[in-house]
This record gives sequence, C-alpha cells and structure tokens, in this order.
Amino acid sequence: MIVKKEKGETLNYLEDASNLKADNIESVFIPQNEEEVGEIVRECSARNIPLTVSAGGTGVVGGRVPLGGGVILSTEKLNEIVEINKEKKYAVLQAGVVISDFLEELSKQKLFYPPFPTERTAFIGGNVATNASGEYSFKFGSTREYVRGIKVVLSDGKVVWIRRGETFAQDGYLGIPSTDIKFKVPGYEMPSVRKNAAGYYSKADMDLIDIFIGSEGTLGIITEVEVKVIEEPPDVFFCAVFFQDSENAFSMVTDIEKRKDILNDILCLEYFDSNSLQLLKEFYPQVPGVAEECLLFATQVNSPESLDVWDKLLGGYNSISNWFADSPKQKEELYGFRHKLPEIINEIVRKNSYPKISTDIVVPEDKFWQMNDFYREKLKGTGMKHVIFGHIGESHLHVNLLPENEEERQEASRLYLEFSRKGVELGGTVSGEHGIGKRKHQLLKIMYGEEGLKQMARVKKSIDKSCILGLDNIFPRVLID
Ligand SMILES: Cc1cc2nc3c(=O)[nH]c(=O)nc-3n(C[C@H](O)[C@H](O)[C@H](O)COP(=O)(O)OP(=O)(O)OC[C@H]3O[C@@H](n4cnc5c(N)ncnc54)[C@H](O)[C@@H]3O)c2cc1C
Repeated sequence: MIVKKEKGETLNYLEDASNLKADNIESVFIPQNEEEVGEIVRECSARNIPLTVSAGGTGVVGGRVPLGGGVILSTEKLNEIVEINKEKKYAVLQAGVVISDFLEELSKQKLFYPPFPTERTAFIGGNVATNASGEYSFKFGSTREYVRGIKVVLSDGKVVWIRRGETFAQDGYLGIPSTDIKFKVPGYEMPSVRKNAAGYYSKADMDLIDIFIGSEGTLGIITEVEVKVIEEPPDVFFCAVFFQDSENAFSMVTDIEKRKDILNDILCLEYFDSNSLQLLKEFYPQVPGVAEECLLFATQVNSPESLDVWDKLLGGYNSISNWFADSPKQKEELYGFRHKLPEIINEIVRKNSYPKISTDIVVPEDKFWQMNDFYREKLKGTGMKHVIFGHIGESHLHVNLLPENEEERQEASRLYLEFSRKGVELGGTVSGEHGIGKRKHQLLKIMYGEEGLKQMARVKKSIDKSCILGLDNIFPRVLID
C-alpha cells in the first residue's frame, strides 16, 4: 500500500472541480487490493477517524474534499478491468478504472458503455457513487440503469457483493444479507424527472443496490462494479444549428419532442444561449457572428435515408447555418466545441476570483418552458454575467452565474435558492447529475425538508455504523451526532 503524508504529496487530494479546498489531512492511503481497503477502514473505524474516498477528483460539489481532516482513501490503484464479456454484454471493473480507458478497451471489441459522463478522466467508482449521467443520457439514461452489481467494503471492513434483483425492501425496511444491517427506507417521494442525483434513492419496493448508487461515499467503499454494456451504436451524426432568435430554436425543440419517428435515434439534444455563443465565437469561426442561439444534436444513422428526415426538419426554422460532422475529424472538432464552454467559464471564474454558481435543476418535461421563462425573467434586470446551456432535451439546463464582486455574489446566491425553490415547486430535482456533496445541503433541504435529511442520516447511521465515511456529503454531519 502506498501512503502519502507530506503536504506536497497530499495537496492534489484536498480539492476537486468545485473550488472547495481542505486545509490538511493526516494521510492519503492508496490501497492496491481489497484486503488493504479493509485494513484502512477497520483502523479508521477503531480510531474514529473520518475517511473520504477519492476517485478521479472531477466532482463539482466537493464530495471528495476532506473538510474537517481525517484520511483519504484513493482508489487510483484499483484500476484493473477484470472482465469484458462480449457475448453476455457485461463488464467487471475495479472502482479506479478511468472511464476513457474503459471506453477504449470496449471499442476494441465493438462494445460501448452508454452512461459515460462528459468528463472522461472520472473513475467508474466515482460515476456509480454520484449516479453520473452521460453525454448521451437523452437516449440511454444514467449510470444507475447500467449497474448490475457492486462489491462494497463496509465501515467494519466486511466485504459484500450486492447484485441487482436479489434484495428488495419489504414493509418499509431493507437489510444487507450476511450482515446484521437493517434500515428503514426513507419516506420521501422522489421527483418524477428524467435524471436525479439528489440524495439517497427511495422507493417502497426498492432494490438494495439503489441505496448505494448515488450515495457519494457515505455508506461504503465500492471496490468493484459490474455494468451492462451494449453493441457499439451504428454511425453517429452530429450537427450544431445556429439561430438568430430563441423562438425558432425553442420551436425546433418542441417539434422534435413530438417526432416519435426520430426520437429513439437521438443521443443528445443540447442548447447554448447567446451569452454562451458570445464566449465560444472567439475560438470557433464556424459560429456565425450574428448567431444568438444554438442547438446541438447527435443522432444514430441507421440507414442513409434516416438523415432525410433531419434535412427536412432543419429547413423549417430559419436557422442561419448548420455545422455538420460525420467524419471522425469533424466529430472531434464539434465535440471540442461542446466541451470548450466549461473551460472558458472556469477561466473567467479564476480571473474573477469569485466562485461560479451553477444550477443542475431538472423539472418534469411538461414544466420545462415555465422553468425556462422563470430563469430568463429573473436574470433580466440583474446585469450579472451568466450563461445558460445544457441538456434541453431532458428539461435540464445549467444556469451558470458568474459574479464579479461581493454584491453580485450575494445576488447570485439568492437567485440560486429562488431557482431551486421554483424547480422543486414544479416537481423537479435540485440535482440531475452532479450530486449534493458538501455544496448543496440547503438545496436538498428545499426538496425533502429537514425531516428528509434526517431520514437519510438514519440510513447512514444504520449502514456506516462507525459514522466515518464521506462526512458532510449529502447532509451535514451534525445530523449523525
Ligand atoms: C468539465 C466537467 C464535466 C463534467 N460533466 C459531467 C457530466 O456530463 N455528467 C455528470 O454526471 N457529471 C459530470 N461532471 C462531474 C463529475 O465528472 C462526475 O460527478 C463524476 O461522476 C465524478 O467522478 P470522479 O471519479 O471524478 O469522482 P470524485 O470527484 O473523486 O468523487 C465523487 C464522489 O464519489 C465518492 N466516491 C468516489 N469513488 C468512490 C468509491 N469507489 N466508493 C464510494 N464512494 C466513492 C467520493 O467520495 C465523492 O463523494 C463533470 C465535471 C467536470 C469537471
């Protein structure tokens, strides 16, 4: 086992992509096998030392940031792809496998793992712990739907394999087989939206595995994962469509949503507002100077004729230009366009030295336009720099507020709460894909109330009996005292 103690060696583990940063920790443990994971956990439990699991560090809510100290357990050396079964379409991976490595191995066998997130340096264990959603979640959904089994080291060091379809809640309770753990299923109702990564999963007849997926390192340490894989999709065609006004862009989205003949082939349907395009124009001459709005979609091409439908559709909305990509080089370029925006935003944030405030709200489909109007109405007179972009096809836009001074920071925080309240009032979730971590307790409280958070804390106390894992993730640690 590798142990890092010197400040220079541990520095990288004190932060993630959230701008949160811990001051110091006792040690970073990097186990090379499951026995070593067990040793660390048993020792921490015995000495009551907080333990935070670290994966790729790409989380945006501070989940792996060890506020309050303790130790870090990094899964980076648990990085073996144990099995890829082409015939039965599954793979078994250690938790520290980097998503890009997994995708590369799969593609050698013409296989594919659909819910991979945009940030491909993330680890599979991190994806399961946050229930990440992929670039193609419009078609394929989130990580939860692909996880068939997980191997978990509990805080007493015991190792359990939990497989989907084996253990279900009964009379409001769930137990972990071959342990004495039994817990009450939380009573709150989850929102009916296309994606949800806010707090513990809860349903009356839920599968045990679902409490661990999206539990952000608070219940156990995932060391191995078994996931479903699929055949590589047929050829994929990408297109960015530029408009001079939002009316046409939004009509196109509404019409696409009604088109049953093409919906099943669409992999993603994304949106960029005029402020996003303003930032991107500097880097991409393909974006027309007069463009104010953009939709980007990817669709499977099942036959040469399948693109004819799109050809007709694209003619109908006064778009000013279309940027097509079907060759690998063009796709790479358009992919770069799509991912440039978060990079530019992060650069602005660094210069501003005020953190960005980024929403992750998803509302039910029939409430999307109401939510969209609400964002714009509230942002209208603020003068604050902001961008709106994201997964419009899943009723999931990210509003990034970019305050430049203290007054704006306060205004951004106020708006953030107002947006979240509205999203919840419309039946939505405060987090579609990023999770709650240490940054969004207040928002989760808007969703489930103090009582909901207390119910989650009770689940944690029943499973993580030493109460050492992922402290302050999802709900504040005072709730487990
Ligand atoms: C540019 C950018 C783009 C992004 N795009 C997306 C996107 O498209 N979709 C999306 O969903 N997210 C996205 N994210 C967020 C991030 O990539 C995901 O949340 C990802 O799943 C985090 O994985 P990680 O390996 O980096 O985990 P980390 O950040 O290291 O950890 C995340 C959380 O999981 C816990 N954890 C990690 N491994 C384990 C384990 N083995 N057992 C128990 N707990 C564990 C940690 O304690 C922590 O709470 C993006 C982030 C960035 C910076």
